[in-house]
Amino acid sequence: MIKAKTILKYKAKTRGQLVEQAQKLVNAFVRNRDAINDRSDFVCISCGKYKPKHQCNAGHYFSRSTYPSVRFDLDNIHGQCIQCNLHQHGNLIPCRANLIKKNR
Ligand SMILES: [Zn+2]
Repeated sequence: MIKAKTILKYKAKTRGQLVEQAQKLVNAFVRNRDAINDRSDFVCISCGKYKPKHQCNAGHYFSRSTYPSVRFDLDNIHGQCIQCNLHQHGNLIPCRANLIKKNR
């Protein structure tokens, strides 16, 4: 049962603000899920390189803007380095191959 206090906490926020808040939580979950040691280092889903945690983004295979229905789908979001996610627009060709390997 939702308490009045909880409703008041979110009542003043817009839908967009709530979506962004939810995205931050989902992305944090993904970075934690894909961490390979206690320092939260990770292996990038696209380039396959071992990277420190401060370079970890939660990369979407299907982009959030074009495919909003899978924005929060955990099968669509994986630990990805900044270089691949931001500078190579997801580096999707090796990302696809590694996703197939990961899900076998
Ligand atoms: Zn990478």
